[in-house]
Amino acid sequence: MRCEADDIISTEESRMLFCQTQCQLLVTCFMLGVFIATKTVYDKFRREFSKLTVVVIGAGPIGLSSALVAAKSGRVSKIILIEENSRSELMNRSNQIAFDTRSISFLRRHGVDFDNLEGCWDNLCFFTRIGVYLDYILSVLYRDEIPVDIRLNEKFSKDLVNEIDSLPGRVLVITCDGPNGNSSRLLGLSDDAIQLPCGAYGAFASLQRDDQLSSVPKPETRAHNLKFDLTAYGAYVEDKETDPGFSVKIFGNTRNRYIALAITKCETALVKALRTILDRSLMRNIFTKCFNTYKSSEEKSASESYVLNRMTFSPRLFEIKLSQKCETVAYFDDSDMFVITEGEAARNYNFHTGKV
Ligand SMILES: Cc1cc2nc3c(=O)[nH]c(=O)nc-3n(C[C@H](O)[C@H](O)[C@H](O)COP(=O)(O)OP(=O)(O)OC[C@H]3O[C@@H](n4cnc5c(N)ncnc54)[C@H](O)[C@@H]3O)c2cc1C
Repeated sequence: MRCEADDIISTEESRMLFCQTQCQLLVTCFMLGVFIATKTVYDKFRREFSKLTVVVIGAGPIGLSSALVAAKSGRVSKIILIEENSRSELMNRSNQIAFDTRSISFLRRHGVDFDNLEGCWDNLCFFTRIGVYLDYILSVLYRDEIPVDIRLNEKFSKDLVNEIDSLPGRVLVITCDGPNGNSSRLLGLSDDAIQLPCGAYGAFASLQRDDQLSSVPKPETRAHNLKFDLTAYGAYVEDKETDPGFSVKIFGNTRNRYIALAITKCETALVKALRTILDRSLMRNIFTKCFNTYKSSEEKSASESYVLNRMTFSPRLFEIKLSQKCETVAYFDDSDMFVITEGEAARNYNFHTGKV
């Protein structure tokens, strides 16, 4: 039987328990508060003292990926991004971009959510419209906690060089303004480039499929060891087993299809013929045949009359060369500034040349 004294003791116990819990809660809240305050102050100091400002010139895939990596590095106090196009012009860039498995895992580590990007997967590679990727990265940068000063519609000029020179602390400038950019020259790097042979011949064609209403990303297709019979063009071609065959890659979106042919540098009769005979119908037929044989199965074949006004192509095989800027990195101690050049601003293949 419970007596009154027992009731008083149990009320006292529960009061003490309540007080204890409240105390613990207060201590936890206090510790949490101290932790958050310390972290905020630490982050602020780290940013203040690191004082690295990153300036990215060009908001193409390389420029925006560089800005993203800088934003996630934890070593940057401010990012300035300069791009001459508007956001809608960037979004509307329709050519395709392919990400291989290494790029995907690298960008995933920096927060790119490929599963929420419009595009298609094939063979663990991801294909999307450049505009889709650029718009996605821009929205990530706009949301980032690091201050990112995004200056669209602004062409990099001499005035901006002076502004960068006067920035406090250490500055890293990454120029990613594509194959025709001149920003690195304005910043004091040499424009000289060397042409490096790649040990291969190639030819390139683009086919405008105006029967397709929209530009939907498509996976690439590849085939190897192709031989062409040119006897109908008066060229005698030996078909030795040892001859290296051609490789073909068909890529691009549903509206803009590209066909790239490449072969290891050699002087077989077939290669000699394709490097010397200037007969546009010969190359057009080779590209059309390659396209119809190796296109994806759901795609319509392209007839000779269809390609006539819709295909532009190299009239003969050319030597593939890599154009590489001689100077891609420099340090200027008067302004404590590093400049590096990346992407197509640093190097690109001459795959577009020879196309008419
Ligand atoms: C027609 C075509 C089809 C392609 N198809 C494919 C494909 O199917 N798959 C694939 O993987 N790749 C494809 N590519 C290649 C791909 O587009 C390039 O490799 C890629 O865009 C290079 O990126 P980048 O950032 O170095 O340069 P860019 O994309 O050229 O970006 C440079 C940026 O710098 C800006 N800029 C230039 N000068 C200045 C300045 N003075 N001030 C401010 N901003 C400036 C430009 O406006 C641009 O936004 C294709 C390219 C083309 C042209």
